Amino acid sequence: MRYQIIKNEKLSIISELAASVAHEVRNPLTVVRGFIQLMGQELQENEHKNKDYFELVLSELDRAQDIITDYLNLAKQQYFEKEKVSLSSLLIEVDQLMRSYANYKTVTIETKINSDLVVYGDNPRLKQVFINLLKNAIEAVPDLEGQVFIRAYSSHEYIRIKISDNGSGMTADQLERLGEPYFTLKEKGTGLGLTVTFSIIHHHGGTIRYQSSIGEGTTVTVSLPIQSDAE
Ligand code: ADP
Ligand code: MG
Repeated sequence: MRYQIIKNEKLSIISELAASVAHEVRNPLTVVRGFIQLMGQELQENEHKNKDYFELVLSELDRAQDIITDYLNLAKQQYFEKEKVSLSSLLIEVDQLMRSYANYKTVTIETKINSDLVVYGDNPRLKQVFINLLKNAIEAVPDLEGQVFIRAYSSHEYIRIKISDNGSGMTADQLERLGEPYFTLKEKGTGLGLTVTFSIIHHHGGTIRYQSSIGEGTTVTVSLPIQSDAE
């Protein structure tokens, strides 16, 4: 027991440090990104080569932001503040949040989210779960004709959220490795998104299941215990 307390204290020191470093580093990054973007806009039409360099700098700055976000989420894992959460509203919010990313990738998102889906959980952490899953779905689909379908409904004691894509799909070996820290097949992936996602779902007494076939697509199903009114 005592060991547990000491361990948690140590973890929270690390988390606080990670959170403050991430916070401090993010601000200058945002400022640099803003100025680089401005400088890029001022370039003459014929300066193609410089334009490419500016694009590269911007995309690397974005990558640094992504890495900070993923590490921060990993560090924050032991803080869970649970309350009644409307998954219906949360999913609609996540869908809206990710629309611009989907549009940019020319992917269409369709939703069928039942109302009144309530769980007992940590709102921002759950939001992170569905942002991560939706992001992976969008990134897996072909640029044109990409389709992602989000469904949410209750079934027995659980709320089920299914996110399907018509993307690359995964082999049995790849499926086996999901959630392993740093496992990524993307040129600019961190391989931390699902590590964080699996851990958050586990902390909510939920499960996550993948069905996938190469070249056809993937369906991920998250099941979370329903919060009944009696509790
Ligand atoms: P990252 O997105 O940074 O690579 P993740 O932990 O989110 O890290 O995902 C790990 C890997 O799992 C991805 O690189 C990808 O190869 C695979 N993956 C996850 N979701 C899907 C999906 N919907 N379709 C195909 N592959 C996927
Ligand atoms: Mg990811």
